[in-house]
Amino acid sequence: MRIQGGIDRPAPAPAARGLHVECAALTDAGRVRTNNEDSLAWDTDAGLFLVADGMGGCNAGEVASRLAVRMVLAEFRQLPLSLPAQEGCSVVLSPPAMRLCTAILKANRAVFEASLQQPEHAGMGTTLVAVLFHGQRAIIASIGDSRVYRFRAGQLEQLTVDHTVLQEQIEFGLITPEQARLMGGRGLITRALGVEPGLEVDVQEQALQPGDVFLLCTDGLFDMIADEEIAAILAASQGNVEVAARSLVGAANAAGGYDNVSVIAVRID
Ligand code: CA
Repeated sequence: MRIQGGIDRPAPAPAARGLHVECAALTDAGRVRTNNEDSLAWDTDAGLFLVADGMGGCNAGEVASRLAVRMVLAEFRQLPLSLPAQEGCSVVLSPPAMRLCTAILKANRAVFEASLQQPEHAGMGTTLVAVLFHGQRAIIASIGDSRVYRFRAGQLEQLTVDHTVLQEQIEFGLITPEQARLMGGRGLITRALGVEPGLEVDVQEQALQPGDVFLLCTDGLFDMIADEEIAAILAASQGNVEVAARSLVGAANAAGGYDNVSVIAVRID
């Protein structure tokens, strides 16, 4: 599932509930770090795409992000289509959204329990963004400061809200989003998967339009390049998701590559 340095083109997803999508995934350690704590995963049959950015000493961040994405995929596959409301998921979710949210809660529990098993994994955690294509909708879940963007008709829109101290300062009007971007910095997230037995998951649904490109990414992308540059790269790629993924990772590295950088780009046909 994990791609290091090379691009991966998950098979087009005819089974994504009648939808045709083209996708490309790429992760890179960047130009400074020797390890890569980001993990990517997908199930094109289910129409489910995941990006996680782990944190923790030694290799614990890598362990957390990899376990999280694997567990979400595994749990999602085996959960029933219809589930009762769960603590941590909004009660008004549609059945597929509740299924995704429940899978994430189960993954949270698994990472938390794994963190208790070995001292070197104590306190490990991870961000997670998930996009599930179901019917004519995208179901988007997020924890932490990885993001989902949508590029539609030449406009880039950040769909997820970061769970960070900086985002709280933006909401209080203390700083602007551009100031926050330039301040960057990890260790400031206010929500992460795997650090507590319970978790609140942000879940939203968006109606799809043909030509939409969904971009899942870690902060190693948007801390290095501005949203305007992300939009320009997506526009220049003209819907070619492989070109988009390569160009985005290349731009983050050209800007310094201070962090691991991971992207999954999915185009709706
Ligand atoms: Ca990161």
